[in-house]
Amino acid sequence: MTLATIALAQVRKVSISYDGVPGYDSALGQVLEWSSQMEGPRIRSSEEPPDGLRLRWYGASGFELGDNKTTILIDPFVSRPPVSNPLAPLIIDTIAVDELILKPMGNRKADAILVSHAHADHVMDVPLVISRSTTADHRPLLVGDPNTVTLVESYHLSVETRLLEFDDGVVHYLIGQFGDFTVEAVRSLHPQYDFLPWRGPRGKIEGHPPFTGFDYLSYRDIAIAYIISYRGLKFVFCDGAVLQNLQAIGRADLLVLGIPVRENNTIAEALATLRPSFFIPTHYDDFFVPFHEMDQFDVTIDLTVFLPGENEKEITLLDFSRFGEFFEEFPGYIRKARSKLPTESQSFLDPRLRILKPLTYYSLESLILK
Ligand SMILES: [Zn+2]
Repeated sequence: MTLATIALAQVRKVSISYDGVPGYDSALGQVLEWSSQMEGPRIRSSEEPPDGLRLRWYGASGFELGDNKTTILIDPFVSRPPVSNPLAPLIIDTIAVDELILKPMGNRKADAILVSHAHADHVMDVPLVISRSTTADHRPLLVGDPNTVTLVESYHLSVETRLLEFDDGVVHYLIGQFGDFTVEAVRSLHPQYDFLPWRGPRGKIEGHPPFTGFDYLSYRDIAIAYIISYRGLKFVFCDGAVLQNLQAIGRADLLVLGIPVRENNTIAEALATLRPSFFIPTHYDDFFVPFHEMDQFDVTIDLTVFLPGENEKEITLLDFSRFGEFFEEFPGYIRKARSKLPTESQSFLDPRLRILKPLTYYSLESLILK
């Protein structure tokens, strides 16, 4: 196969069927995909970026949030390499990054790239995105923990960084203003995998690319939650269902939360403190399947990994998103959250569950005037 044929095979239009997927398929019950809702502010979806405030999900925990002037990327990741051997180097899929992240942005360049933690599914595509977003008169700001910064700098990129160390009990940083967006960061925690006393590989990132799956390490098990305010609207993005330091976050309009591995979670506590109008679950798609192979949206994440080291063993993580069950659980989280509030304010807590299609723009302009 020539290089041209490979490229052609990869960039063929990503068209994904949602048949048989709870929340997307009316044959299975309520459709919660955001742009198909009649109730509440009208949210339109489109393949092309709409005018004004827009949100686009890359699958996993990745997002583009922006408007006509400013673009912020959160954990941009579309390479989605199958991880059968964590000791094999992970290769950035340059075609996927160009076609699925950069091309839809047109002439716009990322102004800030926010990384929650340095596991591969959050950070591996960031060096390429930065190199493609840097020009003579534009340099995006990379925001992340020491591992994220070390990893990106090992690619010898000219990058401006905001390093978040969370030393001395610091839990909250003001990052800055990007156009009409204000960005803050709050210390949160990487969730623990269900059935395993493990929060994923952690340690100090060292060495040079290419990195293997086990070279991508979390920094002290921290996952950073990002709080982004825009014209009176407040978004909270967090990788996992164990959001921490809720008081430092305060009230929010949209809570965007990773929901796999939630045997222990703080969803009800987060709902009670943040009191969001919308709850958007993420990170439930099978991100070990590249988009160009994904004809059918797959929400069953299972993975067998070989753990190196002294106690070499294979472990199997079974369907750790349990996406279908989440719809049944959600009313219970609301009930539990309400029970934490004074009686008179309980009925004001009424978060709507909404889900997104990956690689699709959602126009959020209608949310601004509340
Ligand atoms: Zn992840």
